[in-house]
Amino acid sequence: MNNPGATTKPIRSLEDALERCQALGMRLSRQRRFILELLWQAQEHLSAREIYDRLNQQGKHIGHTSVYQNLEALSGQGIIECVERCDGRLYGNVSDAHSHVNCLDTNQIIDVTVELPPELLQQIEEQTGVKVVEYRIDFFGYRHAPPDGAADSVAS
Ligand SMILES: [Zn+2]
Repeated sequence: MNNPGATTKPIRSLEDALERCQALGMRLSRQRRFILELLWQAQEHLSAREIYDRLNQQGKHIGHTSVYQNLEALSGQGIIECVERCDGRLYGNVSDAHSHVNCLDTNQIIDVTVELPPELLQQIEEQTGVKVVEYRIDFFGYRHAPPDGAADSVAS
């Protein structure tokens, strides 16, 4: 494909992700395919360790180093998401701009697509003088009832 716009097409499926690898000239090794398949099946944010464990549980034997190297390569090319957390990196299948709901009790991150009202974006642009082209919002909350006093510690 000679269309330069083709490489910026959003990745919405496993097929799109595989296509993007090929468009970028990345080798589609068996290991790389396994990792992409797993992330699209799981639709969660997983650590390299969890990805390694799950693949091996499925009988797909991949070495640690290979898992790490492939995750680095895929996230470096923007084919998968990489979330930096204080306890390490997590990888997800959604690579374009999206927001996260962070569960403080279960430690999960749920992907959500949030569209801010145009008036709010305009207000932010006027306040900062920055033309907003993309945004990612982090929401924090509890899946179950928050422990006593937890609301105070989040607010401060
Ligand atoms: Zn995400």
